[in-house]
Amino acid sequence: MSYSIAIDGPAGAGKSTIAKRIAKQLGFIYVDTGAMYRAMALHILRKGISPEDGEAISRACGDADITIRYENGEQVVLLNGENVNGLIRTEEVGNMASASSVNGDVRKKLVSLQQRLAETADVIMDGRDIGTCVLPRADVKVYLTADAGVRAKRRYDELVQKGASCDLDKIEQDIIDRDNRDMNRENSPLRQAEDAVLLDSSDMTIDEVVENIIGMVKRQTDQKGRR
Ligand code: C5P
Repeated sequence: MSYSIAIDGPAGAGKSTIAKRIAKQLGFIYVDTGAMYRAMALHILRKGISPEDGEAISRACGDADITIRYENGEQVVLLNGENVNGLIRTEEVGNMASASSVNGDVRKKLVSLQQRLAETADVIMDGRDIGTCVLPRADVKVYLTADAGVRAKRRYDELVQKGASCDLDKIEQDIIDRDNRDMNRENSPLRQAEDAVLLDSSDMTIDEVVENIIGMVKRQTDQKGRR
């Protein structure tokens, strides 16, 4: 049986940085589910569909073939065969991903891809609904959060480092709007699973969060071994 770690939490909490490090240390596969929603959002944006047009989004979802492969340990997302990794990290795509991920057809398609991946390998998967919907039987579940201001500043620094010009207040507002949408949608809203451990990374370093989660995995596997 494969082993799985589920990490959920709001935008900019550091999920992907942390999950990537843990995957490397434990030799697991890192599955970035947000990247799949972003690839779907790119497909929808390219078609010029409005985020409010649920029917058109469902139709567009039908002709988006999203798959992933791994190159040098990095997840590569393919949209109808095209590597879109370099195109999905913009605020525009992130906002469309948040709007289109309320759509049931989009979620059904991507959740089934995610579940298939977790059946075949030991995974650490991050997103919004991993512990609650995608992998309800995950071995370790973490809900990773941080203050909205801290998360906005992290996103801002990341974008500035990439050479993008951006406005910190706008990023914070986008993060708050996105959290509201993700937490209040009808379909698989973002929430802490009952059996997830809450970690607030506002005053923690990346190393501290990584060590904390690896400690949970060790304790869980020791306990399992003793049973
Ligand atoms: O994590 P990331 O910012 O890349 O995710 C983009 C958007 O995709 C989120 O705001 C959320 O609306 C959606 N998403 C989701 N379920 C997931 C992962 C992401 O609804 N498991």
